[in-house]
Amino acid sequence: MSVPHTSPPPTDTHCPYCALQCGMALCPAADGADGRPVLEVAERPGFPVNEGALCGKGRTAAELLAPGARLTRPLVRRAASGELEPAGWDEALDLVAGALARTRRTHGPDAVGVFGGGGLTNEKAYALGKFARVVLGTSQIDYNGRFCMSSAAAAGTRAFGVDRGLPFPLADVARTDCAVLVGSNLAETMPPALRRLSELRENGGTLIVVDPRRTRTAEQADLHLAPRPGTDLALALGLLHLVVAEDALDSGYIEARTTGWPEARSAAMAHWPELVERVTGVPVPELRRAAALFAGARHAMVLTARGTEQHAKGTDTVGAWINLCLATGRPGRPYSGFGTLTGQGNGQGGREHGQKADQLPGGRRLDDPAARAHVARVWDVDPASLPGPGRSAYELLDELGRGVRTLLLAGSNPVVSAPRAAHVEQRLRSLDFLAVCDVVLSESAHLADVVLPVAQWAEETGTTTNLEGRVLLRRKAVDPPPGVRTDLQVLAGLAERLGGRRGFPTDPEEVFDELRRASAGGPADYSGIGYRRIAEEDGVFWPCPERPAADTPHPGTPRLFRERFATPDGRARFVPVTHRPAAEEPDARHPLLLTTGRVLSQYQSGAQTRRVGALNAAAPGPFVELHPRLARELGVRDGDALAVVSRRGRAVAPARVTRAIRPDTVFMPFHWGGEGRANSVTNPALDPDSRMPEFKVCAVRVERAERDSAGGGAPGTAEAGTPGTGRSEGPAGTAGTNGATAHAR
Ligand code: SF4
Repeated sequence: MSVPHTSPPPTDTHCPYCALQCGMALCPAADGADGRPVLEVAERPGFPVNEGALCGKGRTAAELLAPGARLTRPLVRRAASGELEPAGWDEALDLVAGALARTRRTHGPDAVGVFGGGGLTNEKAYALGKFARVVLGTSQIDYNGRFCMSSAAAAGTRAFGVDRGLPFPLADVARTDCAVLVGSNLAETMPPALRRLSELRENGGTLIVVDPRRTRTAEQADLHLAPRPGTDLALALGLLHLVVAEDALDSGYIEARTTGWPEARSAAMAHWPELVERVTGVPVPELRRAAALFAGARHAMVLTARGTEQHAKGTDTVGAWINLCLATGRPGRPYSGFGTLTGQGNGQGGREHGQKADQLPGGRRLDDPAARAHVARVWDVDPASLPGPGRSAYELLDELGRGVRTLLLAGSNPVVSAPRAAHVEQRLRSLDFLAVCDVVLSESAHLADVVLPVAQWAEETGTTTNLEGRVLLRRKAVDPPPGVRTDLQVLAGLAERLGGRRGFPTDPEEVFDELRRASAGGPADYSGIGYRRIAEEDGVFWPCPERPAADTPHPGTPRLFRERFATPDGRARFVPVTHRPAAEEPDARHPLLLTTGRVLSQYQSGAQTRRVGALNAAAPGPFVELHPRLARELGVRDGDALAVVSRRGRAVAPARVTRAIRPDTVFMPFHWGGEGRANSVTNPALDPDSRMPEFKVCAVRVERAERDSAGGGAPGTAEAGTPGTGRSEGPAGTAGTNGATAHAR
């Protein structure tokens, strides 16, 4: 008689990558060489956000769980060899704790910095913020989410009194009558979300896409507006001007639900259509058509993303789109409003719970005495002991080796992802001590004194908050490999060595329960959300306060602003904004504009996705997209090596000639290091409100180049340091980057 074979049930969880946080299941498929099961990704059709659909990144996400693809031992840079070599955990943690303590003692607490990541779970982000402020006592903490949607966060807080990516479920997009998608290429960044745009059009709705490139998303639009990079602000103001001129305002809504309209109206009226055409390059008839479609729709919404935000005026640009929505009475109405499509997996929750330089858990302000008192009570410390707001992400990186001498870097790869990256790389090399917690030996980890290998998404339980403000549970499906610890264990180990073991539990649910208490009463109130409830309800939308005295729990808040906004008077605030040029305009030496973005098969700095075979085969390296007219002028053909040169450096990659881009603009994806590193070129000019760098536009020239074969492509997977990349090499970039430095003025 045969024994029936029973497999362990699949584990329902979420993708480790972008802010859509697609639901997926992990199924044991075979026994792995290290005794752990090999997991396969399967569909989870019941999860409402993606309904089973996954992009290639999600489908292949389990590959990185295998030991060969990731770090499994701590690494310590040995003085004798100058290389990173395997070490034990005690030695590695002792070295990191010793460096942190020494720097604090010698130079003060603010000489120690912490830099986190938008991929960390809420529990890790919370623990990292608490560790920085309570154990290290430093104000110098920020995270790479600052590079992601801080401009939308600042504009949303300014107008609505709260910062949540989408104030409604993503499914509402399919039921609106007109959606304006600004600076987002969902077809490449979040393919499962694209179906909502398709449904919108199947339902008879209109899609308007604003993007300087004719992307695969723009190809699906009823109307594609292609403004010159850096001019979205003028475009939004021009549309508002037309709405006023055509008397298409919702005066009743403005009267009842907003403040500040007269000033915002005056600012918009200075942007008449012909001026906007001159600034943006978008013809007046297209402007009129867009304004009529948007204002004439019963339900309408504007969705922005990085293309709108990553500018030195990103907050005002988002504010201009919000003004357009308010003037036409959209926010808080069904299937209408303004939203932002968050980028990183937990970009939203990461800042809500303590990684951001100016925020405490619950989305509270660090400079608010009542907020400090509340969180200090939960942490059992004196409010006066909590440091104030610190430097923003780029400013913190720029300060390395000067005011900030020792850095703890967790889940981030700024050598590839930061603007003016060769400079940032040099600042990292100039540190007294760099400790990196990561899954893989990223370009940044290569520079470390100590690398701590940490567990991944499927190896530990934790929560994330997706782009809708839906708090989700990622469940553990497999143990981490021997030799790997969780970030919570790392922080507990460091806290113990620094005299603060108490308050750093390693059980994620225990951390989440404390986070709930810390968030209670704040804008992002999670106090009514527990692990069990998240699991039962497929996520819970914040704010969700605890109601101990009520018969039923708070239902969560899928849709914000129905009755009031989160401002003191309950009204949304118009903010008057006016157009201004990009921080860097073209000149005779740099006559073109560069804009940057993502491709379908890579994610952010590529540290993970460049290690996945299928993804790497689909998108093996960077490229420079340019218009045939520009290619003719330069005598360039498809595949020719091109150097894109700005005032800061240069990047080299093969040409991709396409009519999908404006003749005055070139495009590079930013997922690679080495000579093809787009961020060698980008501009760190900061938005005055959000401190967001201007990734999306800078002045460049393009010239023929020889390619260095080392640039781009897949990184190695070896755990030992790569010769020539260690910090002991001194302040120089990669071969390509050195070239960039030589060419920069
Ligand atoms: Fe993962 Fe985002 Fe792809 Fe969904 S769209 S599978 S969350 S990378």
